[in-house]
Amino acid sequence: MNNAQITAKGDAYVMNTYKRIPLAFEKGQGSWLWDADGKKYLDFLSGLAVNCLGYAHPVMVKAISEQAAKIMHTSNLYWIKQQVEIAQILVEQSGLGKAFFCNSGAEANESAIKLARKYAKAKMGQDKYEVITFSNSFHGRTLATVSATGQTKYQKGFEPLPTGFKFAEFNDLEDLRSKVTDKTCAVMLEPIQGEGGINAALPEFLKGVKELCNEKGLLLIFDEVQCGIGRTGKMFAYQNYGIQPDILTLAKSLAGGFPIGAMIASDQVAAGFVPGDHASTFGGNHLACSTALAVINYILDNNLMDHVLEMGKYLRTKFDGLKDKYSFIREVRGMGLMIGIQVEADGNRILEECMKEGLIINCVGGNVLRLLPTFIITKEEANLAVGILDKVLAKM
Ligand SMILES: *Cc1c(COP(=O)(O)O)cnc(C)c1O
Repeated sequence: MNNAQITAKGDAYVMNTYKRIPLAFEKGQGSWLWDADGKKYLDFLSGLAVNCLGYAHPVMVKAISEQAAKIMHTSNLYWIKQQVEIAQILVEQSGLGKAFFCNSGAEANESAIKLARKYAKAKMGQDKYEVITFSNSFHGRTLATVSATGQTKYQKGFEPLPTGFKFAEFNDLEDLRSKVTDKTCAVMLEPIQGEGGINAALPEFLKGVKELCNEKGLLLIFDEVQCGIGRTGKMFAYQNYGIQPDILTLAKSLAGGFPIGAMIASDQVAAGFVPGDHASTFGGNHLACSTALAVINYILDNNLMDHVLEMGKYLRTKFDGLKDKYSFIREVRGMGLMIGIQVEADGNRILEECMKEGLIINCVGGNVLRLLPTFIITKEEANLAVGILDKVLAKM
């Protein structure tokens, strides 16, 4: 089937929940993809911050094929060696205490909200259940996580929404302070907002949030589903700020494209869950955890985060150069290989033109180009992407 045939069949049989580009990818290698018509693309999106090691990476192929030939799944009624091992790595890397595994970012956040409520209610009374989140945040698509998301467009039509969420302005400490009540149990935020347009928390803001949480006895939850696992040049984005959360959520890059989610908490907070409180049938199975182990170990063993930092700096310099050249580029921002380019132009048209030229990027909010390259991107590939973007921007 070619792109058009797959698109036609998709329109006939698949629910219309995505504004899809009418093409399908069939093969990938490194940071490159080939569509069903045989056209080749350089991928600066990585499956939305998922394929951190690119496509068909040998360590992932080996881990998945070897594990699939042994055991893929047994349920969490028994211990799973690979789950125990990845838990140890995540706990040691994060400085937290215990991990829980699920299958997606929304599920990780859902479990974080449940744990925060359970812990706070047991410790401070039944009325402690409110979670404060922020404007332009994105926490997932389940009813609870969509309610936690500070963008009404994701909530419209799904009312009544689960209650217990309040919103404060991102990077506005006074606004956050004014939203805290006797019912507040936690503050949840993305250290670098992804869907919201690549907005990094200001260091003073995050420091203030931590102090406020300490002062009021609130749990601090970091949603690092998008910015975690090396993308900012540190294993977790919060390590760039030197501020420790009580609960951390991960998904996207954790197994480089195999579905997995994780929620990690300090020992004290994790003890809020006892057997029966939370579960996931598939969560943390042999196959998912073997893949996560292969990905994380590869990142650590090859100092890939140094490469992320180096390439991030290189690309930033190049994009700053484009900003000097094109007056409609408002701002280049982000951290490591999580880059946003805000334009006063039609971002979706730029995206379409880049696709025509064989470069995959993303656009959020209509005017922020979002670039999330793989961690194995080379300088030559970076130059190629910058060249295509330059060519496209020249036509705007
Ligand atoms: C993608 C994302 C989610 C949701 O993850 P899913 O795996 O799609 O459920 C949650 N939080 C953040 C910050 C995300 O970027």
